[in-house]
Parts: sequence; structure tokens; C-alpha cells
Amino acid sequence: MTASAPQPAESAAFASALELIGAVEPRVAAAIRQELNDQRESLKLIASENYASPAVLAAMGNWLSDKYAEGTVGRRFYAGCQNVDIVESVAAEHARELFGADHAYVQPHSGIDANLVAFWAVLAQTVEAPALRDAQARHVNDLSDAAWETLRRELGDQRMLGMSLDAGGHLTHGFRPNISGKMFHQRSYGTNPTSGLIDYDEVRQIAAEFRPLILIAGYSAYPRRINFRLMREIADDVGATFMVDMAHFAGLVAGKVLTGDFDPVPHAHIVTTTTHKTLRGPRGGMVLCKEELSEHVNRGCPMVLGGPLPHVMAAKAVALAEARTPDFRRYAQAVVDNAAALAEGLLRRGVTLVTGGTDNHLVLVDVSAHGLTGRQAEAALLDAGIVTNRNAIPCDPNGAWYTSGIRLGTPALTTRGLGTAEMDAIAELIHTVLVNTQPAAGPDGNRSPAKYVLDAATCGKVAQEAANLVAGYPLYPAVDLG
Ligand code: PLP
Repeated sequence: MTASAPQPAESAAFASALELIGAVEPRVAAAIRQELNDQRESLKLIASENYASPAVLAAMGNWLSDKYAEGTVGRRFYAGCQNVDIVESVAAEHARELFGADHAYVQPHSGIDANLVAFWAVLAQTVEAPALRDAQARHVNDLSDAAWETLRRELGDQRMLGMSLDAGGHLTHGFRPNISGKMFHQRSYGTNPTSGLIDYDEVRQIAAEFRPLILIAGYSAYPRRINFRLMREIADDVGATFMVDMAHFAGLVAGKVLTGDFDPVPHAHIVTTTTHKTLRGPRGGMVLCKEELSEHVNRGCPMVLGGPLPHVMAAKAVALAEARTPDFRRYAQAVVDNAAALAEGLLRRGVTLVTGGTDNHLVLVDVSAHGLTGRQAEAALLDAGIVTNRNAIPCDPNGAWYTSGIRLGTPALTTRGLGTAEMDAIAELIHTVLVNTQPAAGPDGNRSPAKYVLDAATCGKVAQEAANLVAGYPLYPAVDLG
């Protein structure tokens, strides 16, 4: 999405849509307009966000939204789904071919929903409980109380092993307060305290002891590649189903940056993802799996999911078509090159990084050396025009709310066209904020994990430089709303 002259077609399409919306509810039209302005002015380093193309956005705003389409292609609970069938088939075909998957299910509304579909499918395929077979044969709501009891008893004994939250795993990978930690007996693996890397021998040892039904790999905040071949070997040794949640790095898999041992699709039995992070599609989820799981995955709606969103499946089809182009491969490589340049720039200036660097799209900064919590660093950076999010680091003494880290990601700025030279300039701005921010006392006079002081002159100077940087790389350059 590098700079180009405004395209009359794109400008006209979005301007007309806003006019239509504004005629009914002007406050909503104004908020949408303002969102574009805000995004254009923001130096966004949120690792989980991106900018979808105008074609992806346009695919979502239409009458496909009006259809109910529970079921799957050719087997719907509603009549009149012939066009939804086309859209869903095209999206699934692109997904299968792009990722080399046996089967693709493109209905999940989000990454968490995709994980729930996957958990259910693995349970259904591996736990041959009579009540479960009954549940599949009929609508879940039809189950008798006795059948539900059997189902609960038999499912309740299953185990899940995933990466711990503070090592970078996701809350749906068995974190106790999450439904996944309630559906399964749960244990987690962390990272090596010295290197910050996954210790595969430790994973092997825990798996041998715990014997999970599902071994999950994947992360929200781990700045390194994972060797999925090794993880599959561990799963096979203990008879576990190997699941990968590639929500964060699907775009790097699609763009052929993560290949061989680092591409999860050939190694995992089942792979879930979001479609809106590095993959740069609409907000949504997707499941890829081996053929033997496909029947259970296809029961996602209405077993686990509400009715599919046909307009979002259309946008997924468009995004997946885009991800099959050489342009997207160049983009994925640039995301990783930019993250490496950002990490290198920070390290050179003395900033501490978890694992000492990155080989994916994200960088995890340990701000404790600056005497700050993640919350203080996040807020100070935001004051200075740099949008990040605070994140726990392994064994974080400040917990998941205040944290000791900030997570930085390059997918969004790379879409705008920023390159490695700009990443070095951003490293300088981040370093300036971190060394000039001091923790401050709360109302009770004690040091507060949230309060901080950043002098106005430094803050203003960094904000101006951040604004200048993004101004050179216009967002949605083809859209001019006047
Ligand atoms: N899985 C991982 C690894 C994630 O990082 C996230 C979101 O951040 C999700 C799942 C959930 O995605 P969603 O917000 O679309 O439900």
C-alpha cells in the first residue's frame, strides 16, 4: 500500500458509503471518517494489527451480510445460499492452496472461535464417547440431560498442554481463567530463563509426564520461530494431537518467510489462525486441518459458532487471493526485515529485548531496566505519538496488568511502506522516551506502577518526529475523502 495518486473509483466508493451512512446516523459517519484520520496520523506498532486493502474493506460492506447460512457449502440449514456457497468455496480454495492444507474452514468469526472449533473437533474425533457421537448427530440443544452428563464426564478428563501466558502463549491455550482451562486439565511449558527460548527438551519431558490430548504451539508475544517438526515429534511420542495457533504469524507462512520446520501446516494435525493480523484480511478466524478432522471441523457452526458472516467470508476470499501474489511475499519478507532492523536499532542503543532479538514480526522489550512498568512505558510512548501495547515478559514480577514489557510489531507500518531506515529512526524515538520517562508517586505518596513523568519538551519533540515519519507514508493513499 505504498503511496500512489488518489484513485477516483476508491475515493468515490468510500465517499458514497459515508454519505449513505451519514444520512441515517451522522455521528457514525463522522466516527468512521475520524478513524481514518486517526489511523493515518498514528505510528502504529501494535503487533496484532494491520491495514486491510480497500478491496477487502469493500467486500465486507454489502448485502452478503443479509444472509443466514448455518451449515457448510451445499449443506445449509437455510435456503437460498447459492451465492454464499460460492464465496465460502472460493475463500476455502484460496486457503487450501495458499497454505497447502488438506482442508480449510473459513467460518470462524475470530481467532478464539477458531480455537474453540478446533478443540471441539479434536475432542469429537478422539474421544469416542457415545454422548459425543449423539451430540454430533443432532443439534446440541436436543441432547437429553443424561446425555449432557455423560458428555461432561467424558470430556472433563481430557488434557491440554500449551505455552504459558507470560512466556508469550495465548489465553485460549489452557490459561485457567479462560474456557480452555476449564474444558481441559491444563499444564503449560515456558521458556528457558537464560535464553528466553522454548526448551524443546523441557516440552518433551512435560508432555511425557502429562500425556495431553492436545499439544498446542503458537503465541501472541514470542519473538522467535518455533520448530514445528520437533513439536510434532513430541506430540507423536505421547499420542497427542498437535495443534498450532498461527494467529500472529499466518502472514509470514502465507508469504513463505516461515518454511520447512517453521511452517506449521505440514506438521500439525490442525492449525488455527486469525485473518486480520499479519495475514492482512478482515477481522476473523480460520481452521486448516488434515482430512481426518475435516468432518468435525465443518460442524463448527452451529455446534460452536453462531451463523457464519458471509460478507466477512467474502473479504477473507479477497485477502487470501491477495496473499497469493508476489507482492504479498515481498511484504511478508519486509515485515521480518523491519522487525530485525527495529530490534537491532534498540539493542544498539542499550534497550533490553526478551530473547535478545527477533526472527518474526514482533519485538518484546523489557522496560524494567529503565525503572518502568510496561503500563508506564506504554502510556509515555502513547503521549509521544507511538502506539504500542504493554505485555508480560517471562516470569513477570509485575503480572499481566502492569507488566514489565512492551510488545512492538511491524506488520502495520510495513503495509504503509516504511522500511529498515525508518525502523532505526523509530528505535531512536522509543529509546528517547524510555530514558526520559521516570516513575512517579501515586496519590498516597508511594511509587505507583501507573504514574510517570515525561517532560513536555521531549514528548513534543518525539511526537513531532513520529508524525513526520508517518506523514511520508500515507495510509490508504488512493482514498481521498476531501
Ligand atoms: N490466538 C492468538 C495466538 C492470538 O494472539 C489471538 C489474539 O490476539 C487470538 C488467538 C484471538 O483472536 P481474536 O481476537 O480474533 O479472537
